Amino acid sequence: MSNQLSITRPDDWHLHVRQGEMLKQVVGNSARYFGRALIMPNTVPPILNGSDALEYQAEILQATQQWPQFQPVMSIKLTMNTTAQMICEAAEAGVKAVKLYPTGATTNSQDGVELSRLKEMAENLVFDAMADYKMVLCIHAEQPSQSVFDREPYVIPFIEALLAWVPRLKRIVIEHVSTAKMAQFVASWPGRVAATVTAHHLYLTIEDLLGEELKPHYFCKPIVKTQRDQDSIWWYLKNNSNFFFGSDSAPHAQDAKEACSCSAGVYTAPMMLPLLAHMFEQHDMLDLLETFVAHRGADFYNFERNPDTITLVRSDEPMIESEESDRNTPRQMPLRKDDRIYWHVAD
Ligand SMILES: [Zn+2]
Repeated sequence: MSNQLSITRPDDWHLHVRQGEMLKQVVGNSARYFGRALIMPNTVPPILNGSDALEYQAEILQATQQWPQFQPVMSIKLTMNTTAQMICEAAEAGVKAVKLYPTGATTNSQDGVELSRLKEMAENLVFDAMADYKMVLCIHAEQPSQSVFDREPYVIPFIEALLAWVPRLKRIVIEHVSTAKMAQFVASWPGRVAATVTAHHLYLTIEDLLGEELKPHYFCKPIVKTQRDQDSIWWYLKNNSNFFFGSDSAPHAQDAKEACSCSAGVYTAPMMLPLLAHMFEQHDMLDLLETFVAHRGADFYNFERNPDTITLVRSDEPMIESEESDRNTPRQMPLRKDDRIYWHVAD
């Protein structure tokens, strides 16, 4: 077994960095290691157009000056009020992706899209405008009116309809794929539909979340699913180049997680690369880590792969899990019981 692994600098194609003080606390955990991150637009207020995106990008760049290789790739949020003109202006401002949240699907998504009105949006040429600029449509594929285990597969017919209505729309990403059914659907549209896969959906199942004790730091949307679903996602990740890495690292203050009403989101950024190396090693897939985190996503988004490398080292001492004492600070995902990570990023 090799104790050292050098890979092309990775990209994170789904990241929440929040705003203000929280942004300053969390963004460095990604910016120091990654080349690019696709920044999610569900802030308060949301990122709705090109000028919002430029302003938010400036805030992120300000907070990441010491890691000049880090490039925040911006997205805007699709609402029922988004027009084709807004899409064009956003593209001109450098925005690469448009994020579709079904109304109420997750954190700050009350102003999302009603799936029953997708055709209306297509007729208003909103998706054609994305196609004109080769933008990527990113979908949080869950319908919140359905039961939690059915929310993701329920959306498949809506996406199929959209693919038929807008044949020019060539690049759709199903974010944080969590079910075998959705993974199978993604694989049935090679080149046109891809999926991001998070570290926590590869690591956790519903048993870890609530099989023994309820673990609020494992609660996210889409909720982690069964071992069968997870095995299926690993299989597609291994065999299909349209499955690439997007962390969906989603920090909330500890007070918001350890509460009667627990916010959805798993904060993985501080441990991301060691955790991935750990899991890929356990699956005997370390040789695929580089293509998963550094090649496939850049290729799909039409970016050059990053020019430099980072090195992971396997040491004898396990990673020490930091326990944050400040209740306003997010706590990184605790490891599963008795699990130890021996990988770290070399300085
Ligand atoms: Zn997310």
